[in-house]
Amino acid sequence: MLFRMQEMMSKGLKASVKEELDVSDLFKGRSDVIQAGPLSVSLEVTGHDGYITVEGEMSADLELACSRCLEPTKEHTVIPFYEQFKPATSDTPGDEESDEEEDDEFVEVAGDKLDLKPYLEESLLLFMPFAPLCAKDCKGLCQVCGQNLNEHTCSCKNEKIDPRFAALKDLFKE
Ligand SMILES: [Zn+2]
Ligand SMILES: [Zn+2]
Repeated sequence: MLFRMQEMMSKGLKASVKEELDVSDLFKGRSDVIQAGPLSVSLEVTGHDGYITVEGEMSADLELACSRCLEPTKEHTVIPFYEQFKPATSDTPGDEESDEEEDDEFVEVAGDKLDLKPYLEESLLLFMPFAPLCAKDCKGLCQVCGQNLNEHTCSCKNEKIDPRFAALKDLFKE
């Protein structure tokens, strides 16, 4: 997924990207992500005078641990992607102030080669479901014995104390 920026911009080239990206390495060591990907990428890359737009969509099948009961949960994530890239302006030393004022409409790319992969990966990480659930009414695990309460109820006395009331109880102690 490499593009030569100068050529694309000067000739106003267009390119379609349809690719499957292996993203399993991104989630190595994360216990909440059981399986991820591949990431299906479908993008249009267009060269304009002075900048390049990349627009489209990515999607991935994910297998995540339910945030309540930890059972594997399948999710299909669709991620819109829109980014504008332009060549980095050659900074003159001591010119840092104007740097900060630069609007962040554009992502600056050093050199002539635009590699989209890191931006796509970043976007996927950003759009990962935050608290996946196996079912909307997942009962979670018993906090005493660890039993998956979707499968069986346990005999623990689960006094369900609302955390707000728990805080009140503490207040009364004093
Ligand atoms: Zn669950
Ligand atoms: Zn229990």
